[in-house]
Amino acid sequence: MVAISAVALAVIALAGCAPARSPYVASTLPGPQQSSTPTQTQKQTPTPTPTSTALPDRTPKVKGFDKTAHSIDNPNSIWVVSDKLRPLRPIDYTPPDIVTVPVAHANPPRLRKAASAALVTMFAAAKNSGGGAMQIQSAWRAYSVQVSVYNGWVNSLGKKQADRQSARPGFSEHQTGLAVDISSVPATCSLATCFGTTVQGKWLKANAWKFGYLLRYPSNKEKVTGFQYEPWHFRYIGVALSTEMHKEGITTLEEFFGLPAAPDYKN
Ligand SMILES: [Zn+2]
Repeated sequence: MVAISAVALAVIALAGCAPARSPYVASTLPGPQQSSTPTQTQKQTPTPTPTSTALPDRTPKVKGFDKTAHSIDNPNSIWVVSDKLRPLRPIDYTPPDIVTVPVAHANPPRLRKAASAALVTMFAAAKNSGGGAMQIQSAWRAYSVQVSVYNGWVNSLGKKQADRQSARPGFSEHQTGLAVDISSVPATCSLATCFGTTVQGKWLKANAWKFGYLLRYPSNKEKVTGFQYEPWHFRYIGVALSTEMHKEGITTLEEFFGLPAAPDYKN
């Protein structure tokens, strides 16, 4: 969803159901292949006594990823799935734990608490590992602000095009306090497709998952997500889920949770 810079975008951060896992710190960024397995494979167990016969393997089974660990319906959940078929309930939902994110910003930098902490860590890691300087372009938007943003696009582009690039009020991830539009410092290609070709855009695409963030609207998934490619829009989902999706190579929440594609609103 595109922000209108002229609109004062409120910000927020909340943490309601964030998992206790800490985001990786900048100095210990894991490589894509290491230390990201959420399950433990083996524990040292006592050697079975020699008198046992045909003992079964006592090694604990590797547990599959629990897709029900958090709700995808409750807007307070860090896994809430918001798309054109899944309005937030209530429609004017306000997150409970919005905080001001202490990073550079072009608009009020507010996110839910857990999303904020992860973003601060991610920006620091980017700066220290070739990702360049970043800022928040737009973060939390209250329902009332989304009304203004969406209506602004409808007035300038017409409803059809507005629906391709800005969510209707009650359908925006920005309303959850878990989504953030990121731009570079100095600003280059802000809220434009070419952001994906900047140092910052490339770094985010490769590394955001390590911090619990998902590039929510990939280039080839408009028919699934309902939105055009937005290399600047990242959604906090927590490290456990972002790691699992990365591992499985699944790029949208709809596909991961087996939800219907949401190319358009019902009406
Ligand atoms: Zn956005």
